Amino acid sequence: MSLAVPVSEVDDVARRAEAWTPQEILDWALNRFQDRISFASSFGVEDVAVIHMLSQLDKNARVFTLDTGRLPAETYDVMERIRVAYGTKIEVYFPQREATEQLQNEKGFFSFRQSVEERKRCCGIRKVEPLNRSLSTLDAWSTGLRREQAVTRTILPAVEIDHGHGGIVKVNPLVKWTEAQTWDYVRAHKVPYNALHDQGYPSLGCAPCTRAIKPGEDVRAGRWWWENPETKECGLHKA
Ligand code: SF4
Repeated sequence: MSLAVPVSEVDDVARRAEAWTPQEILDWALNRFQDRISFASSFGVEDVAVIHMLSQLDKNARVFTLDTGRLPAETYDVMERIRVAYGTKIEVYFPQREATEQLQNEKGFFSFRQSVEERKRCCGIRKVEPLNRSLSTLDAWSTGLRREQAVTRTILPAVEIDHGHGGIVKVNPLVKWTEAQTWDYVRAHKVPYNALHDQGYPSLGCAPCTRAIKPGEDVRAGRWWWENPETKECGLHKA
C-alpha cells in the first residue's frame, strides 16, 4: 500500500495536534491537502460544527455526504439549511442502484433487523461502498468523530493513517471535545442543527436504525439498539 503521506509526518502531527484546537487541526489539513481532502458529514451536531469552522477557514473546503435512501426528513432539512446558510456545496453519494434494488427485492425493507450480518450487508451497500467510492479520489478525509462517543473510539487520534481506506489520511478535529463543548460552539455561532437532537437523538443515522435515548443511556444506545455495543460500527470507520 503506498501512503498519501509518510507515517512519520502523520505521527508527528498527531502528537502536536493534541495541543491544537479543532480549527487549528482543520487549518493544517486544508493547507496540507487543499482540494484533495473532503469532510464526511452525516449532519449531526459535530458535523454542523465542523462545517461552520470550515466555512470560516476556506469557502472552497469540500464536504460530502452519503444519502443512504433511508435518512430521516429532519436530516434533509438541516442539510438544506446548512447549504443555504454557508453556501456549502454538499457532494452527495448514493448507493449503487442495482445492489440496492436487489437487497430490497430479495430481503424486504427491514432486513437489517434480522441479524448483525444482514445489518452489515445493508450498511455495506448503502454506506460503505459509496464511502469507498468517494474516498478513492482523495488523499485525506475528515470526520466529526469524538473519543467519548463510543467504546470503539476511546483512543482515536486527531490525525491518522486510514489503513482501511487505502492508506489515505484521516483527520478527526473534534476528538478531544465533549458533547457539551460541541453544543456550546453550535449555540454560540447559531449554527443550524438537526431537529432530532431536540427530541432525544444524540447520534443520527438512518431513520429505521436510530431512535431517541433515555436520560443516562449511552449516547450510542439509540443506534442499532438491538445489537451489542461492540458491533455498533457501520464499517465507515475501520482500523
Ligand atoms: Fe441500512 Fe440501517 Fe445501515 Fe442505514 S443504518 S445502511 S438502514 S442497516
